Amino acid sequence: MSATHIIHSVPSDPLTGAISVPVYQTSTFIQEAPGVNKGFDYARTNNPTRKVLEDLVAKLERGNSAFAFATGLAAIDSVLKLLSTGDEILAVDDIYGGAYRLFTHVYQKLGIKVTYVDTTEVANVAKAITSRTKLVWIESPTNPTLKVSDIATISTIAKSVGALLVVDNTFASPIGQNPLDLGADIVIHSGTKYIGGHSDLVAGLVVTKTQELSEKIKFIQNASGGVLGPWDCFLTIRGIETLDLRFRKQCENALLVAKFLQNHEAVAKVYYPGLKQHKNYEIAKVQQAGLFGGVVSFTLKDDTQEAANQFVTNTQYFKLAESLGGVKSLLCHPAQMTHASIPRERRLKAGIQDSLIRLSCGIEEAQDLIDDLAGAFQKVTVLTEVSSF
Ligand SMILES: *Cc1c(COP(=O)(O)O)cnc(C)c1O
Repeated sequence: MSATHIIHSVPSDPLTGAISVPVYQTSTFIQEAPGVNKGFDYARTNNPTRKVLEDLVAKLERGNSAFAFATGLAAIDSVLKLLSTGDEILAVDDIYGGAYRLFTHVYQKLGIKVTYVDTTEVANVAKAITSRTKLVWIESPTNPTLKVSDIATISTIAKSVGALLVVDNTFASPIGQNPLDLGADIVIHSGTKYIGGHSDLVAGLVVTKTQELSEKIKFIQNASGGVLGPWDCFLTIRGIETLDLRFRKQCENALLVAKFLQNHEAVAKVYYPGLKQHKNYEIAKVQQAGLFGGVVSFTLKDDTQEAANQFVTNTQYFKLAESLGGVKSLLCHPAQMTHASIPRERRLKAGIQDSLIRLSCGIEEAQDLIDDLAGAFQKVTVLTEVSSF
């Protein structure tokens, strides 16, 4: 969807001509007679501000419908509620930690089995899928090592057993890729990240490909009630108006930052799907239309938590915080922050080494970001030298 199309898909208010979307801060709607209303009766079921956001996101992801939830995890939860006891999920091994926690500690005890495989090798998916697999769950790129899976091929494998393919598209954003066009059935976003884009809200979105799935998710959204409030819907709409501009700038910055890191003597390994050295570069290039995202991860030659700590506490523009996708650059140390709940052995297997640092590039000037990182490297080097006496 072009930037023009996005901006002009946000309707003005038909009642007053207000050019921006009104925030309908109301719980209920007056009815002319029982059951006779203007399309809205109660704000959990529907709200005009939320409807604008949901229609906009459906267009952005080229789906049948979209549904807005209070957080990304509430969106994920609504999709899991499509399942029944005995059903199975086949999921990417590098899955978002919060999704792993929900699968393991909430749904597994309800009798839903989850199998994790490295989905970057499609053969692993074909091998692990069974007749009981109801959902194939992937993220592409993944967090924090940015592994990319072949969505179209995996969708064919899912279809062969009648399973639905769910793609958590948070890291690619709807500007980078539209999984429904590649054969996925459901797309998830943490609207907290690129879509909101300003680190000022939490939100989740589900986009469905078919009318049948739309009706099921709509039922669950109303039945479980984890909807996004009107004010946050308004902020999310406003974020989407600049999504194209922001995401492209973040991708541009991230590529320059990744190239700088690659050439730095203190860096051991850089993870960015836009680098030719990345093992999934070829598929990422085609699948993400050359837009590789704003997140870059890297490890230090001094592969210790101490060195990583020195680095992440010595940047100026990159603020030390969890989350990603906002206009302001952030960095984090996954082993102690986002992935701290994963045992070290498992973490190392997933490539999350002790010194791994994740950057989320914002929309600042690329050179300022690079200078900021260069300064932090100097601090780490000085400390290493001092401590070797
Ligand atoms: C952040 C994130 C989520 C969870 O979203 P919340 O809005 O924090 O609940 C899910 N998937 C991915 C890939 C994420 O990065």
